[in-house]
Amino acid sequence: MYEQLKTNGSNFEIVYVSSDEDLNAFNNYHALMPWLAIPFSDLETKKALNRKFDIEGIPCLVILQPNSNKDDATLHEGVELVYRYGVRAFPFTKERLENLLEEEREKHERQTLTNLITNHDRDYLLGHPSPKQVPVASMVGKTVGLYFSAQWCVPCVKFIPRLISIYQKIKQMLVKNGDQEDFEIVFVSNDRDQESFDSYFNTMPWLALPFGDPTVKELAKHFDVHGIPCLIIIGPDGKTVTKQGRNLINLYQENAYPFTEAKVELLEKQMDEEAKSLPRSVYHPGHRHELNLVSEGNGGGPFICCDCDEQGCGWAYQCLECGYEVHPKCVTTADRASTGQ
Ligand SMILES: [Zn+2]
Ligand SMILES: [Zn+2]
Repeated sequence: MYEQLKTNGSNFEIVYVSSDEDLNAFNNYHALMPWLAIPFSDLETKKALNRKFDIEGIPCLVILQPNSNKDDATLHEGVELVYRYGVRAFPFTKERLENLLEEEREKHERQTLTNLITNHDRDYLLGHPSPKQVPVASMVGKTVGLYFSAQWCVPCVKFIPRLISIYQKIKQMLVKNGDQEDFEIVFVSNDRDQESFDSYFNTMPWLALPFGDPTVKELAKHFDVHGIPCLIIIGPDGKTVTKQGRNLINLYQENAYPFTEAKVELLEKQMDEEAKSLPRSVYHPGHRHELNLVSEGNGGGPFICCDCDEQGCGWAYQCLECGYEVHPKCVTTADRASTGQ
């Protein structure tokens, strides 16, 4: 984004305020940055900035306007804004951000399942066995997961057996409960050729957009998909429920269904409740040190599980020195040494 803004001549600069431990680390890190920095030796200025802007955690990007007038107060959420809007967040003024919010609201209003996954030339999805076609009209009213993935992507290949098993469990659960609701997944392929698409899709029990369909690119843009695998959940009303489908599956398995905010809140509460009975510390065969139980507000935060390589948040077992962190569910309790001694 910085380079884009520089290229198009925007009046924008970044100053790196380091929290590095030593000069060497600072030099190595700053060497990767195309922008300016406060010298490592200038501790005074660094401290003063931390105080002035009340910095509680990093990374933090504070945005200052050219003529610090009162309408455009200092913005602290630079990191979130860049992540969410990319270059479009510039110049980070109140007006700009209001426009972006309004745009999002309109986009949300207009969104339906049909206009998301059909186009002029196609009103169906691929099913099994090929060349079965499933009309998109038959999907309206279901909870639908859009699964962005590709066979060349290692994390995708690792994630898929888990997703298949959970998909089947959700389907079984819905049948068992005699629910009117239904769940479906649509594979949105990033494969490089038809052959890899065919062989990959053959392993999946759900539907797919045809390989190379123009809707694939449109969806990636619409949902701002930066990395795969990515699972976006669309509700029965055609509106986005969450872009965090993959995380929710990893955290809660089939219980994540229907992925709504209310359901996630409930699951978080249950997890907090369950965590009360978890040991404060454990030994996990994958790591030689003792691991401590941490939570979001207590030394934890989003992490990548060193056991299953998937993202986690909320509760975790952590070795702070090594930066080793695992899901509580990934700890092998059988090998756990006695704790609290
Ligand atoms: Zn894990
Ligand atoms: Zn360790």
